[in-house]
Amino acid sequence: IVQWTPFFQTYKKHRYPWVQLAGHQGNFKAGPDQGTVLKKLCTKEEKCFKVLMKDVLRPYVPEYKGLVASDDGECSYIQLQDLLGDFVSPCVMDCKIGVRTYLEEELAKAKEKPKLRKDMYEKMCQIDTTAPTEEEHKLKGVTKPRYMVWRETISSTATLGFRIEGIRSADGTSTKDFKTTKTKDQVMASFEKFTEGFPHAVPKYIQRLKAIKATLESSSFFNTHEVIGSSLLFVHDRYNANVWLIDFAKTIVLPENVKITHNSKWKVGNHEDGYLIGVENLIKIFMTMLEQ
Ligand code: ATP
Ligand code: MG
Ligand code: MG
Repeated sequence: IVQWTPFFQTYKKHRYPWVQLAGHQGNFKAGPDQGTVLKKLCTKEEKCFKVLMKDVLRPYVPEYKGLVASDDGECSYIQLQDLLGDFVSPCVMDCKIGVRTYLEEELAKAKEKPKLRKDMYEKMCQIDTTAPTEEEHKLKGVTKPRYMVWRETISSTATLGFRIEGIRSADGTSTKDFKTTKTKDQVMASFEKFTEGFPHAVPKYIQRLKAIKATLESSSFFNTHEVIGSSLLFVHDRYNANVWLIDFAKTIVLPENVKITHNSKWKVGNHEDGYLIGVENLIKIFMTMLEQ
């Protein structure tokens, strides 16, 4: 049933070409009901969807339709509304939101025994030979926490509060080649290519993003969660354009007594995710495109 292409899979069961722009390929399959997809169960994510179905954010996330067991009973899936279902040859973009994409606890764990990592030093040099300090060059190694923090600065994550993960364009080709897409101008150039030939999409995206921002600000789910590694999924075709919040596998309840603004600088330990920084920059960039 499953056809494989280098990065992207399509399913015969869908009447239309389905595309997965992020994550492990085995994590998704066509759902038992028309217009649904199955994602491998992650208990944290399932909890989020349950809460979201009762939150003001409900219209902005895929509908959660419950748990489904795999054929062999080995694992479970969550059944979600297929957001591509109502589109004809959809163009799709996944933007990962936030000023960091790892949890505070992941950074803390990496700091426990910070060994020097040669592989991470080499990855760093491949992208930017001036990134390691003199000391790190001498040692030919960097620690994992150092690498984790640095990695968020090569894309727009640390500065703009989001980064492009993948795009499927109108010609049907897909790319995930955005690891170093960092500046406003670079991001805007990608958005322009993505929406080229679909001028109706840009104002629709702006309108929807503004509604998402306003709803986030009044959402009790958003108020009580640290939203890490979650994405906004942009979808348009000849007729329509829409945006949804997806991927809550790393979204966690804030510790008691911790309140965040989602809008201020992250410092180790303050739990700020920068989600609203990302949404605001997305709105600004799409609005600049309209003015040109
Ligand atoms: P990662 O953590 O690496 O981002 P993941 O395994 O948590 O990946 P998601 O980010 O939830 O998976 O989804 C991966 C991709 O699958 C998305 O970029 C999108 O292209 C597609 N996708 C996810 N959920 C839906 C949905 N409800 N409808 C349509 N497409 C979806
Ligand atoms: Mg994702
Ligand atoms: Mg994920």
